[in-house]
Amino acid sequence: MAQHVYFFGGGKADGHKEMKDILGGKGAGLAEMTNAGLLVPPGFTLSTRACHIYSENGSLTPEIEEEFETAIGRLESLVGQKLGDPARPLLLSVRSGAKFSMPGMMDTVLNLGLNDGTVEGLAKATGNPRFAYDSYRRFLQMFGNVVLEVGRPLFEKVLDEVKESKGAGSDTDLDEEALKEVVARFKSLIKEKIRRDFPQDSLEQLRMSRDAVFRSWNSPRAVKYRRIYHIPHYLGTAVNVQKMVFGNLGNRSATGVGFTRDPGSGAKEFFGEFLMNAQGEDVVAGVRTPKLIVQMEDELPEAYRELREIAERLERHYKDVQDFEFTVEEGTLYMLQTRSGKRTGLAAVKIAVDLVDEGIVTPKEALKLVEPDALEQLLHPVFDPAARGKLKSVAKGIAASPGAASGQVVFEADDAVAWSEKGKKVLLVRMETSPDDVHGMKVSEGILTATGGRTSHAAVVGRQMGKPAVVGCGALKMDMAGRQFEVNGSLVSEGDVVSIDGTTGEVILAEVPTVPSEVIQVVQGKLAPEKSELYQRVTRLLEWADEHSRLGIRANADIPRDAEVAIAFGAKGIGLCRTEHMFFAEDRLPLMEKTILASTVEERQGYLDQLEPLQREDFVGLFRVMSGLPVTIRTLDPPLHEFLPRRENLMTELAVLEHQGKSEDEARIGELKKLLSRVEQLHEFNPMLGQRGCRLGIAYTEMTRMQARAIFEATCQVVKEGGKPMPEVMIPLVGIAKELEAQRAIVEEVAHEVREKEGIEFEYHVGTMIEIPRGALTADQLAEHAEFFSFGTNDLTQMTFGFSRDDAGKFLPVYYDQGILERDPFDSIDVTGVGELMRMATEKGRKVRPELKIGICGEHGGDPDSIRFCHGLGLDYVSCSPYRVPVARLAAARAALEEGEES
Ligand code: ADP
Ligand code: MG
Ligand code: MG
Repeated sequence: MAQHVYFFGGGKADGHKEMKDILGGKGAGLAEMTNAGLLVPPGFTLSTRACHIYSENGSLTPEIEEEFETAIGRLESLVGQKLGDPARPLLLSVRSGAKFSMPGMMDTVLNLGLNDGTVEGLAKATGNPRFAYDSYRRFLQMFGNVVLEVGRPLFEKVLDEVKESKGAGSDTDLDEEALKEVVARFKSLIKEKIRRDFPQDSLEQLRMSRDAVFRSWNSPRAVKYRRIYHIPHYLGTAVNVQKMVFGNLGNRSATGVGFTRDPGSGAKEFFGEFLMNAQGEDVVAGVRTPKLIVQMEDELPEAYRELREIAERLERHYKDVQDFEFTVEEGTLYMLQTRSGKRTGLAAVKIAVDLVDEGIVTPKEALKLVEPDALEQLLHPVFDPAARGKLKSVAKGIAASPGAASGQVVFEADDAVAWSEKGKKVLLVRMETSPDDVHGMKVSEGILTATGGRTSHAAVVGRQMGKPAVVGCGALKMDMAGRQFEVNGSLVSEGDVVSIDGTTGEVILAEVPTVPSEVIQVVQGKLAPEKSELYQRVTRLLEWADEHSRLGIRANADIPRDAEVAIAFGAKGIGLCRTEHMFFAEDRLPLMEKTILASTVEERQGYLDQLEPLQREDFVGLFRVMSGLPVTIRTLDPPLHEFLPRRENLMTELAVLEHQGKSEDEARIGELKKLLSRVEQLHEFNPMLGQRGCRLGIAYTEMTRMQARAIFEATCQVVKEGGKPMPEVMIPLVGIAKELEAQRAIVEEVAHEVREKEGIEFEYHVGTMIEIPRGALTADQLAEHAEFFSFGTNDLTQMTFGFSRDDAGKFLPVYYDQGILERDPFDSIDVTGVGELMRMATEKGRKVRPELKIGICGEHGGDPDSIRFCHGLGLDYVSCSPYRVPVARLAAARAALEEGEES
């Protein structure tokens, strides 16, 4: 029979840190800390497998229930207390915990086991009735809210009323009598709302809480959170049941949370917050303002020293920054949780490199400490120091997540989304944030809150998302209903522009101009590399990465400036140069227009002859920058109409001129008529499936010929200069082998002519894009004519799904809501469908031509999950935007390392 309950306590645990799949992160951490000999209140974890069973059947099996009760019995004998026993009541916490920490799930229930009888027992046992009734009212409040779903504000209201009637400023000022009153009123509130008495039976309380945790896995909040972070829905959550320890026993007790290093900057500084005489939820709930953890040294010196020691040990043991939770009960320190700390990209890089320098991790291990996507944060603009110096800040809050952000103030997460969809830059301002706001935080430039500390929701999620955040800015007088706030005499309304500096905590009532980040400045040659520690750290990390990757990284670049950026970021070639971009330039568009409008081949050739030297110069520029590295040049791809004037515009102009009927306009009118008729001739009902890609080069062979000549003449010129050009000519949108064969013949013919004429023996390759399903299906035939394949996954996704990329945004959200799709297939490769075509094409292609070079040049080339997939397929390279190259380098290395671990 499978085990569903894992015990921890008495110095050893059934589980350990590698069992997150079964125990969840929290359960695995509690087991690991127990095994390491740390003081952890004992308890047990109900596995994620039990969650699956519960989700399927709406209940657990009798066998699991039995195992559950056995574990309660074991815990009771270990600690010498009994659940529901008024003489020696066992009190428990019930905590959710999935593999990945998820603030979308059920809140913890503390002090479970209290009822009208046991509360008296607890009062006697501790000699502290005030404490007993404080714990009871907390339990009623949490259980009532989290399990019985009675609104939290209703409880708050009762509490406030009692406080007010007693003249108490904070809940710590309430005495035993007052707390008894709160308890009585909470009980009647619950009865009124759920139409039955609050359950006095402790085992029933426990079962109800446990089941509520399981149900919370599928709550809308949790589902939404998982979607944003791409956490699979099948994982399930574990439930941890643990003996309570009390941070609210008096002034030798406390509770808190901390980080072994600063998760915003990465600095090696003990970081966190605590509260004296309090229970866990008080720290995050913002009801009392927590103190900086370093101040604990004065109030609880011994526990503080021990905590620092343990924190250091945990960091070494886990080889990563730890985010830990603890409670001090009458001077004794208990550890309640440890996990990898969420951090900003800036911190991630610093911590990874520092841990290597401190000998705690190897460079290879350091690569696992930085999420590839986080590297992009290092490229975000920062406030322009010159402009910033001139603007006064109006208030200062807690600097919770570094970076600069300016945006229009919005107060609701849904507004943030709506405004940003209209292209506005927004700054989300709230009292505090909650898991319900995550979607709004994601689209905001930054987050500003009036309450909360360094470990509040806004701070933690802000850092995780890499968004600047200023929290706990008490000077903000929020008027949520009026959609405005007042700050030190200034009134700020929705839509006003406000800036925050997440590094200093300052709030500025103006837009502050930004400058490129340090890394970008180095890459652009405006800052010396040795002047930027950040740049040096990134470079070291990426050099370690390159030692492990098997995939090469190229960039998509059309012009020398982009190619320079790509090289600076470490790209080893250009995977896609879109030649059409060269024709959109102002001096060329009219020529291109004429080429297309030409009615005879001779006329067209005339214009092409003018375009050719311009195009040649483009390639010369690229080859110079990319000397010694491959440059894949795609022949003309887009639908013709993109080069032509819009039909509507021509018609309007024509109508106006004809209406005016001036004789001097006659020539123009004639011209317009000719133009219009050609534009109408070329009009397509569905241009994306019309005459584009190689279909153009096949209809107008002279275009391919011109491009090939430009490429090879540029090659010769750069060879003469002493450079080493490595052109690869890529034919787009091929679905039929004969298309490729025909285009290839032209390219080869031109290459031969240029070689003869110039007397230079240059090297070149011809290949094709695989972006039409038929191309993938007949890849073996294509490989006969191709020296390389490059997956154009944008089109391939579009055509495999039959979704137009530009329209999918309208219906995909419905698909997510109904669970039809989990992820946008244009963001991350659809492994099941599109991926299968890629696998087939790779196998078929290599069977015919084992040395076939295969890469990917769609947008997916910069997505870490897609990169992992490409690595698994055995591709040679991925090509992405120049700014994604660092992300891709790290992702490629991590894919290789993960593969090594699996086998
Ligand atoms: P979250 O996943 O939201 O961090 P936790 O399960 O860690 O929720 O619980 C939140 C807080 O509740 C903890 O930080 C701790 O302060 C308190 N808590 C949880 N279990 C116990 C316990 N056994 N004894 C005392 N406090 C506890
Ligand atoms: Mg916790
Ligand atoms: Mg394409």
